[in-house]
Parts: sequence; C-alpha cells; structure tokens
Amino acid sequence: MPFDYSRLPHDFKRRYLPTVVEFDWPDLSKVFVELSGRPIGSLQEMERWLLDEAEFDSFLYEQRTVRYINSTRQTDNPEFTRAYEEYTENLEPKIKLAGFELLKKYAASSFPSQLPRAVYALDGKRRQSAVKIFRKENVELERQDSNLSQTYQRTIGAMTVNFRGQERTLKQMSKFYEEPDRKVREEAWRLVDARALSDSKKLDDIYTKMVKLRDEEGGNAGFDNYRDYIFVKKDRFDYTPGDCVEFHRAVEESLVPLSREVDRVRKERLGIDELRPWDLRVDPDSRPPLSPFEDAAGLVSGARKVLAQVDAQLNGFFERMVALDLLDLESRKGKAPGGYQEELSEVRLPFIFMNAARRDNDVRTLLHESGHSFHTFLMREKGLPYFNGGANLPLEFAEVASMSMEIISGEHYSGTFYNEEDARRSNFEEAVGNIKLFTWVATVDAFQHWVYTHPEHTAEERARAWVETSSRFSGLESYEGLELSRAFRWQRQLHFFEVPFYYIEYGIALTGALGIWARYRKDRRDAIEAYKGALSLGAAKPLPDLFAAAGLRWGFGRKELPGYANELRAAIKEYAN
Ligand SMILES: [Zn+2]
Repeated sequence: MPFDYSRLPHDFKRRYLPTVVEFDWPDLSKVFVELSGRPIGSLQEMERWLLDEAEFDSFLYEQRTVRYINSTRQTDNPEFTRAYEEYTENLEPKIKLAGFELLKKYAASSFPSQLPRAVYALDGKRRQSAVKIFRKENVELERQDSNLSQTYQRTIGAMTVNFRGQERTLKQMSKFYEEPDRKVREEAWRLVDARALSDSKKLDDIYTKMVKLRDEEGGNAGFDNYRDYIFVKKDRFDYTPGDCVEFHRAVEESLVPLSREVDRVRKERLGIDELRPWDLRVDPDSRPPLSPFEDAAGLVSGARKVLAQVDAQLNGFFERMVALDLLDLESRKGKAPGGYQEELSEVRLPFIFMNAARRDNDVRTLLHESGHSFHTFLMREKGLPYFNGGANLPLEFAEVASMSMEIISGEHYSGTFYNEEDARRSNFEEAVGNIKLFTWVATVDAFQHWVYTHPEHTAEERARAWVETSSRFSGLESYEGLELSRAFRWQRQLHFFEVPFYYIEYGIALTGALGIWARYRKDRRDAIEAYKGALSLGAAKPLPDLFAAAGLRWGFGRKELPGYANELRAAIKEYAN
C-alpha cells in the first residue's frame, strides 16, 4: 500500500503553484521556466520570487520524500523501487541543472543585498557559495555516484547467513551478539564476518570508483581535493578541516582512555582474559537484554508517558503524529533496515520510520527521531528562510535536536519503560554508547580525511590506513587472528559509500546534546525553553548562533572535550550498579 499522504491536513495553502502539478518533467519544467524567466524589478518582487521558489522547493522535496518513504516501507514492491529510481536517475539531474539557473539568476541580481540581513544573510551566503562551486559536468558524476550507492545497498542488503537452520539478514543476526553464551556470540559473529568478507573485493571496487568520481568532482570545481570541496558544498562555514583534525586529537586524549577503561571493567566483569569483537554488546553481568515493551503500541504509550514529563508542547507534537498515523515503527518483512525522520515539506509534517524489535535501543531511536520531528513542528509556522523545504537545516544542529531527546528522555525511564534498576542500566548503556560514539566519529572522520587527501591510494594502502586509524581510537578488543576482518571492517559503515564526509556532525551535535542534558538536570524548564527556542530558528542562523540560542558552548576541540568526557565519566559512575 503506498503511503497515503493525501489524508494529511494541508494547513499551508499554495499561493503560487497550480493545484495540480504532476511530478514529471513536463510539469516541473514549466515552473522552472516561469521562475527563471520572470523579471525581478524591485525588492518586493525579489521577496515574492524567493517565496514562490521556496513553495516549489517544498513541493519537490515532499514528492521525493513520499517516493523514498514508499520504497523503504516496501522494498519488495518493484513499483515503488522504480518510482524512486526514476526520480534519482531522470528527474533529479534535471532538477539540479534547472535549479542552478535559478541560483544564477539570484546571484546576478542586486536586490538580495537589500534583503534584511539579520534574517537573510545566511541564506544568501549559502546561495553564493553554491553558485561558485556548481559545475554542470558534476551532475553526471553525481548520478553515477548515486548508482554505485544503490549497488552498495543491494550488495549489503542481499547478505544473509544460515544460522541454526534459518536464513537471516545481518541485521537479524545482531541480536545474537547480546547472547550471554559466549560460544553463540562467537559463532554468530564469525558467520556474519565470513559472509561480509566474501564480498570484500566487490565492495572495494565500488568504493575505488566512488573515490575517483568524487576526486574528479572536487577537481572540476577547482579544489585541490574532494575534502576541501565537500567542506564548501556542505556549507561548513563555521569550522575547517583543521578543526576536525583537532577534534580527532582531543578524542584521542580525552575519550579513548575512558573508552579503554570501560572495556577493562567489561572484561573483568565478563571474567575473560581477552576482549574479542563478539564480546562488546553483551551485558557485562550476563543478564538478558533489556526488554522495555511488547509491541509498537507499548512503545508509543511509553514514549507518551516520558514526553508528558519532559514538556507538554513537545508531547502534543508527538500526540499529533500518533493521531495522523505518521509513525511506522514495527519491523516486518520487506521493510528496509534502519530508522529515520523525514519531513513532508509541503504539509510541513514529520514522518518517522524504524524497525522496533523490543529492545532498549528502539526506545532511544524513537525518542531520537521524535527530536527531529520536534524540529519540523517548531519551524512549521515560519516561512523563509527559517523553514525552507528542510533542505538547509544544518545537520550539526539537527542532530542536537534528536540526540538531546535521546539522552534526556532517560531521566524518565523509571516508572515508564523500566523499574528503577533497569532505567539505570539503560542510562549506563547510553553513557557508554556516547563515549564509544565519540571515538567512532573520530575514526570515521579521520579515515575519510586520509582517503580523500590521498585519492591515488591502492586498496591495500586503504586497508592499512583503516587499521592504523582504527587502532588510534579503538577500545581494548583484540583482533588477533582476524586481521582480514579488521582490515575490511570499514566496508560495513554505509556512510563511506552513501553520504561521504557526513559523520563529524554527530560528534559536534553530541557536545550540544550533552550540554542540554547537563542543563536539564539542573533546571528542566530552562533547558527545554532554550532547546525549543533554538530549534525554532530553523535554518536561518549560523551554527555558533544556534548553539548560543540553546545556551550551549560552541566548540569541539581540546578545550571543550575534556569537560564532556568528565560528564560521561560521572554518569557511568552514577549509573553503575
Ligand atoms: Zn538523527
């Protein structure tokens, strides 16, 4: 069944687009032609043009999103797959080219400089920068990249193993890593690992082609390498590659020792001589995994009770999503793995997708995605440039919205999802997870810095660089006798393939989320008001301003990280049994 969005309230009436526009090139090109040909003779006409363009953007983004939602809800429906591929293959390249004509028109006009700076400055900066780096020939390279990305997805998606007489996906296998019986964990891990390794050559080849395409894109746009290009393309106006390198160093100094300390305690509690890769997810006291709810209804009712304690307005947003059936939570056959929040940008409503499997992690995921949805709700009433089809929301701050909810919701798990003891256990796992997240972000980001500043590397050199990078930030697990597994571990991190250089955002956002959490524990009202105020600024302000609005310190280097490491150390102490 296709996702039925026609049933959703259209609270924001179209003022520019005709009531019926088909999502095909004949209809879309008419709108592009009108916008690019329309004379702009005054500031008022400029503002009108921007509003009309934004309405069109919202339509485009929503139509793309509906196709994306359909294709992930039912990967086994060829019609949905075809509709989404038709978009990426045929429509998206045309939309990019036509969109560039609009950007040029904007850049050539003298009126943007007269728009109120306090509101429009950042929007203008983004547009100017996009004009500068746009190259027509890169559209074709991006299309090829997106094709390779789909091949990657299909290759990973087709991986199954036969475990205990049953064919299982790699995702379905992950629950066995939580098994108290060490033999079961090891057997499951080795089986999955061998399956993944059997495609390592194929995945290596895909990535080699991708790196080549990306390097060429950067070169076309006049940059020395893809890293420098992507910093501009991702609108990273407020930090540099050098700041990321400092983040790596800060993680190495402040978080890696803590991560190893956590592992040392884990090893002791498990009573083993050596920590192996299959010992990292099991409860160190060999308790069965936490089981916070029975089914999707239980997950929703628990989340409601938690949010009611966090804030009435935020809880109201969640209730609205439930009432409008904007949550697809349960795992089922044919559903794509993972979880996301996507914005239906014309109706300005969020949609949450995930695969709940009755685990603690699912509660955190729902609260995380709910945080993203609060962003959508809080920007809803605002027009340009606060709200602009969702496309410009800086991810470094979008993830503050979600990770904050993921962390602070744990303050209310006792009496909602858990008893007191299990709530502590959940919060302990979350704190450990965040220590490990810092170290993983550093690994993923540092590796990509190497990859794209050494574009001529061979597959062997890449494997070596991965092993070097991951040893810098890893915990205490030993890969002795598993050297090959270690060298190819990176291939299962989809970001390397699908969204290059997207990851440092999580590290930056985690500092913000930890800041909101610290504030929340001192004064809940005050923390939530600041959180909501900052989210409602949407895409209109630069990162340091968004952080300041949320009462947060901007910075993720050697000055700041020790403080966050101390907070996490204290949390672990507090929640340890
Ligand atoms: Zn997120």
